[in-house]
Amino acid sequence: MITVSLTSILAYLLCVPLTAIMILWLYDSEKKYSRKAVPTRKTMCECEICLYHFTADKADKYVRCPRCKSLMERKTLRVKSGK
Ligand SMILES: [Zn+2]
Repeated sequence: MITVSLTSILAYLLCVPLTAIMILWLYDSEKKYSRKAVPTRKTMCECEICLYHFTADKADKYVRCPRCKSLMERKTLRVKSGK
């Protein structure tokens, strides 16, 4: 006959739920950090007057700096490549 001690039963009853919680936690954290970037119409720009970095729509020909309020043509902005 197989004898099982009370300590073994308690250890088993504690380890199984803790292992399940740990696996779910690792799965959730992996899912959280593997989110992909969402494509957007905005691009990063830098004002040549005050050197403020801001986002602007790619389709706009003229953009206004949110800090110094100067209106600039899109060609005058240095566009960051993102790398
Ligand atoms: Zn500016």
